[in-house]
Amino acid sequence: MLRSVILAASRSSRVERLVETAPYTRDVVRRFVAGTSTADVLGVTRKLVAGGLAVTIDFLGEDTVNPDQAIATRDGYLALLAALAEAGQTPAAEVSVKLSALGQKFDEELAYECARAICAAAAEAGTTVTLDMEDHTTTDSTLDVLAKLRDEYPSTGAVLQAYLRRTESDCRELATAGSRVRLCKGAYREPESVAYQSAQDVNKSYVRCMNILMSGSGYPMLATHDPRLIAIGEDRARWFDRGADEFEFQMLYGIRPEEQARLSAEGHTVRVYLPYGTDWYGYLMRRLAERPANLMFFARALTSK
Ligand code: FAD
Repeated sequence: MLRSVILAASRSSRVERLVETAPYTRDVVRRFVAGTSTADVLGVTRKLVAGGLAVTIDFLGEDTVNPDQAIATRDGYLALLAALAEAGQTPAAEVSVKLSALGQKFDEELAYECARAICAAAAEAGTTVTLDMEDHTTTDSTLDVLAKLRDEYPSTGAVLQAYLRRTESDCRELATAGSRVRLCKGAYREPESVAYQSAQDVNKSYVRCMNILMSGSGYPMLATHDPRLIAIGEDRARWFDRGADEFEFQMLYGIRPEEQARLSAEGHTVRVYLPYGTDWYGYLMRRLAERPANLMFFARALTSK
């Protein structure tokens, strides 16, 4: 119930204005978002990489409604990749891209062309791209675009969401040599017809999918903060004899940083998903919806002086 209210608020421009203008919002946002400028994200990247972590950077922007916005997002990524290369932060830093920010909802071909330009710039900079996954109505389109991009840029990564009933089968398709797959639980509100609804069913699906990816010949990226799933991931890495360059853990910036440090200290590759940009509101609200306990933290900061 609370989750639905927060997800509804994530689409309300009135609540957005309230949040933006509240005192001390900046400190709360900064817990989950690296800042608004390229300089901000480079600064945070340097710190994380110096601490032994890898990063994947998301230039925030969703629900692009016209080609100009799509081109602006593409150009934002091109500038980011050039800055990362110049700062010597690749290949530790890669980028994550939402096709909806590149126009997928109204012109799939435009989204593909923009993503292709970003993949080319990433290859030039010595790094790679992962395509984020959004709500289930976009899954087929995103996997189609991925397949086309991988013809030219085989290291382009995909995200699969364990809450979708189809995902075990998608994992089988993608657990092949050279394929990079980020496995997450899934962050959108989805109907029962396509998605498991209970936490237990989602967790069981995550383990089945993880088994397929870890026993396959691709490069699994286990994106979760869930202690039990991380422990199972560590166990499967031992069982399938996967070293630090054969799979990785991924977590969101600002969430369980001590666990990120622990896994890294144990010799695992840990990549932090690092969002930045002025369009941070929808992202922040989804993080709050995942864990309503964060609301208290947020509410305190909004009301304190
Ligand atoms: P949960 O059961 O939600 O959480 C387990 C524990 O982690 C919690 O008990 C708590 O201790 C901690 N935790 C989790 N979330 C929070 C939080 N917000 N604040 C504080 N503590 C928290 N989803 C998509 O749909 N598409 C994507 O492309 C996508 N990309 C992602 C990339 C990365 C690197 C990661 C880590 C997640 C991504 N997600 C994506 C989000 C994902 O689907 C989940 O919504 C999110 O990771 C929470 O699920 P969980 O596995 O951490 O488990």
